[in-house]
Parts: sequence; C-alpha cells; structure tokens
Amino acid sequence: MREGIHPEYYQAKVVCNCGNEFVTGSTKEEIHVEICSKCHPFYTGQQKATAARGRIDKFNRKYGVKNN
Ligand SMILES: [Zn+2]
Repeated sequence: MREGIHPEYYQAKVVCNCGNEFVTGSTKEEIHVEICSKCHPFYTGQQKATAARGRIDKFNRKYGVKNN
C-alpha cells in the first residue's frame, strides 16, 4: 500500500445563503453556496426555476452531490 497518492478529501460543510447547512464529500473543507435544495425555487415553487435548476445541477456535478 502506497500512501500519499490520493488527493485530500474532506467531509465538506456546505453553507447556503439561506442558512441551511449540509455535508458532502469534497476536496474543499468548506463550501459556500447561494442556493440549495431547501431554498431552491424548484422546490419552493417560485419563478426562475429553470435558471436556478441549471445552477444547482452545475453545483451538484461540480461537487459530486447525488440527488436522492
Ligand atoms: Zn439554501
């Protein structure tokens, strides 16, 4: 077993502008986001859902978040 060949990987704390926090795996220790599943217009039923959907999909891909 060789050590030191893996990148640093954290249980990153994700903090949203709405105050919601959740944990995900990331190479960063802490992530700040403007929108999350709790305040996402797609879930809250507000307008601009399509634009925000693209943003959170991009976020999910970037940080490897799985949609449950
Ligand atoms: Zn939020």
